[in-house]
Amino acid sequence: MFKPVDGNINFPEMEKKWLKHWYSKGIDKKYREKNSKSKKYFSFLDGPITANNPMGVHHAWGRTYKDLWPRFYNLLGYKQRFQNGFDCQGLWVEVEVEKELGLHSKKDIENLVPGDPKASVAKFVQLCKDRVMEFSSIQTEQSKRLGYFADWEHSYFTMSDENNYMIWNFLKKCFDHGWIYKGHESVPWCPRCETAISQHEMLTEDYKELVHQSVYFELPIIGRKNENLLVWTTTPWTIPANIAVAVDETIDYSLVAGTTDQKFWVAKELVKAVFKENFKVLKTVKGKELVGLKYSGPFDDLPKVKAVADANPDKFHIVFATDKNILPITTIEGTGMVHTAVSAGVEDFKMGKKLGLPMIPVIEDNADYMKDLGFLSGKNAKKHPEIILDFLKSEINKNGQSWAFAVVAYKHRYPACWRCKTELVWKVEDEWYISMDRKSKIQDPKSKQNLTLRERMIEIAKKIKWMPEFGLDRELDWLKNMHDWLISKKNRYWGLALPIYECPASAKASAGKGCGNFEVIGSKEELKKRAIVGWKEFEGHTPHKPFIDEVKIKCQKCGRPLSRINDVGNPWLDAGIVPYSTISKDNQGEPFYNIDKNEWQKWFPADFITESFPGQFKNWFYALIAESTVLENEPPFKRVLGFGTQLGEDGRPMHKSWGNAIEFNEGADKIGVDVMRWMFARHNPADNMLFGYKKADEVRRQFYLMLWNIYKFFVEYANLDHHTPKGPLAIVSKKVSSLLSSKNILDKWILSRFTGLVISVEKNLKEFSAKDAALEIEKFVSDLSTWFIRRSRDRVWVNSDNKIDKNNFYETLYYILVNLSIIISPFIPFVAEEIYTNLTGGESVNLENWPSFAKASEGKPKINEKLEREMEVARKIVEVGQAERKILGVKIKMPLANIKLKVELIINIKLISEEVWDVVLKELNIKNIIINGSFHYPEKEIKVTDAQLEKEGKLRELIREIQSQRKLKSLKTDEKINLTIPREFEKEEDFIAKRVLAKKISFGDKVEVQ
Ligand SMILES: [Zn+2]
Ligand SMILES: [Zn+2]
Repeated sequence: MFKPVDGNINFPEMEKKWLKHWYSKGIDKKYREKNSKSKKYFSFLDGPITANNPMGVHHAWGRTYKDLWPRFYNLLGYKQRFQNGFDCQGLWVEVEVEKELGLHSKKDIENLVPGDPKASVAKFVQLCKDRVMEFSSIQTEQSKRLGYFADWEHSYFTMSDENNYMIWNFLKKCFDHGWIYKGHESVPWCPRCETAISQHEMLTEDYKELVHQSVYFELPIIGRKNENLLVWTTTPWTIPANIAVAVDETIDYSLVAGTTDQKFWVAKELVKAVFKENFKVLKTVKGKELVGLKYSGPFDDLPKVKAVADANPDKFHIVFATDKNILPITTIEGTGMVHTAVSAGVEDFKMGKKLGLPMIPVIEDNADYMKDLGFLSGKNAKKHPEIILDFLKSEINKNGQSWAFAVVAYKHRYPACWRCKTELVWKVEDEWYISMDRKSKIQDPKSKQNLTLRERMIEIAKKIKWMPEFGLDRELDWLKNMHDWLISKKNRYWGLALPIYECPASAKASAGKGCGNFEVIGSKEELKKRAIVGWKEFEGHTPHKPFIDEVKIKCQKCGRPLSRINDVGNPWLDAGIVPYSTISKDNQGEPFYNIDKNEWQKWFPADFITESFPGQFKNWFYALIAESTVLENEPPFKRVLGFGTQLGEDGRPMHKSWGNAIEFNEGADKIGVDVMRWMFARHNPADNMLFGYKKADEVRRQFYLMLWNIYKFFVEYANLDHHTPKGPLAIVSKKVSSLLSSKNILDKWILSRFTGLVISVEKNLKEFSAKDAALEIEKFVSDLSTWFIRRSRDRVWVNSDNKIDKNNFYETLYYILVNLSIIISPFIPFVAEEIYTNLTGGESVNLENWPSFAKASEGKPKINEKLEREMEVARKIVEVGQAERKILGVKIKMPLANIKLKVELIINIKLISEEVWDVVLKELNIKNIIINGSFHYPEKEIKVTDAQLEKEGKLRELIREIQSQRKLKSLKTDEKINLTIPREFEKEEDFIAKRVLAKKISFGDKVEVQ
């Protein structure tokens, strides 16, 4: 007997039962060790999840893929590493820890232990580590809940020593190539985090639609009475940094008189937009006529501005001709005269560099105005834009006018910090970069050329299989256009200690003026060898702030003691190195890359990675390719499966405040993770996904419950019929040849369908299309339910007198269910385990092997294409027949002598075998069928009288009535009854008694079941 199947089972509870079982009985360990002796390797590399918060349901999408393929390859007998990863270092974590502690700035962090900055940083870094440990453990439990089998005891952490030192190795190689440099550039800057935001981190989703107050301001031209440049800016806070005004030499500019005695220079095409009405154009000239004019500005009296003006009399407050490639000027909006603040904008900075313009740095790291800016000093430029606007409105310029011509609200997309959502500013800073375009100092042995990193990376990216295919274009687009990789983060604490040791050439440096040399250290051992002081203080600590900074080395050029630069690293360095740092014996300790390259190469490049596409082209994929190109000039992975973004089922991004976000635990308990996994598996990864409870209900009804009911049907009737082919799969498989002898056309058909299914699921999964595999399974399960079982109901229990046929039915369905449980186990492991263990008594479906049909000659089922086509046509005919019955208004219970149908046929109808026609006749409850006027089945018409048909129909109706009364009385299927029926059925008494399990039949007016 099989364990009875509960029709009202609570699936999430069933899942929890199996989780407990798997982990208490060590099934997960046996699963991981199943193929440890195999010579076949499947190398999956996990993109680390940020260990900073609990998982959301959107994480479950990728994590379903990350479990699905390892499970599949485990069934196929491949050895694997099963390693999950956690991303640990960086602003993500810092910002959350700051929030928890109620800290608002760098000063607060450095005063965590009052008066002791070093102890404060040590404490802060420890709290960051603690947070990582806390959330990695929550995410581990959530991943287990998802059914994700991995080596959870040995997940990798990007904060590990191995990971950090491997990045040092990478940076040292970059240094050897001559690709690391310190740049002095205008960079996007977060005033809250007080650090630069690299181009990699500025994703489109981090731009916010914002309304800022823009200002048109008047700049009186020196030496021309009442003539002004009219300039427009959307960032008024940068006006104190104004150095010059740009015009396009080729654009027409007009001098316009307004309602006052003032005259303004504005691009001709914008005159109307700016002045609306009541204006007069006095003259129009090309922009080049204006080049060289000088003007006075609103902040010329501030000491810092004055100092720059005095030091650069020729290059201060001038009109210059723009370089269209750097700072293009349009006449779509504004005035065509562009405010240029060399210290506060990327294009401005580049123009300044080209023309040798001076600059006025105006803000500190937190966007407070610097000292020597008079009334502005100490006030925050971003938080208080009104300081500038009020000044421009109230102060009078030398023409006797207010500086502000007009203040206008302006809506635009403006970048914000990806982590804390603070609006960014632009600021000139010294930052460290990896150059994309410098020729290497080392010849590439493969290409015999000194290629740049960009050139090398482009070649590597092309060697990778991108799924969907547009992935390659997206990656190449980024690789071709990106700036150099900004790898430093100033003013931060929790991150990679960039191993750059600089001998500062600037006299401002606290240690005095050095020789300007810098070096990069490539390993812990190298640092130890080079250390002149501080090794003892550092030893025993992880290579993080503050302890790493105890160590000083000697400048190789001038002999001065050098400190590490104060910066930490861009966090994407951390995740990009993992193909090198995480492959190790039993997923622990020293990387094979350092100690056993042979073994490392068995896992490298990874066969497969999978991540959500948005962002990763600039981030993880980019970093992986960059680091692997530098270290080995090899692709780090062979194939990437990218997938879209998860949205709420209302089509909007999931947001707590919109009520369409779902916490992972809540989703798992309401939906069940099997159903959730199936939703992910069946979805086209290239498309964004709508996710929610309604979608989950659809999938549950249309697939999951159908599967469950098939299983329930089998167990219920096999138990009633005492058919128990229970036993390990090896025994089941041996019986295969016996079920091949079944004469029943339905058995032959479903076995053929199933063989095809297994082959196609295997093929699709090997091509990394979970969707196609899942949709094939859905179609099969539907065929199994709505055709095979539906047409086989009279082969079981009391409905059948044919013992051999009954046995064939059970053997066939048993064989299919057991093997089906195996092939669905990578998708929906819980229900697969439930079915498998109950049917076979085996230990776990997770320890099984993929069904093999390779040796079909050895008596395994084969695909019978002809039969499958016949059955397809038969089902089409049935569909048309049922529609015809509806038109005739005759219920299916009522047999018909014949039916005439018009059907479009895809095969020669004469090829359809008699057995298949018999299935059609039974399903349609007819005696004869005529197709398209000429084809008759049976050839020799079966004659029945109306009375015979009526009797047959009534008998069927009666049995249906009795069955429904049995159901109403909640009788067990095998419970016998006392029955009263009308006397007209006297002749069929025995037949009826058998079909409805009546022990006694009496006759009366009404049908009664007792
Ligand atoms: Zn920020
Ligand atoms: Zn030096």
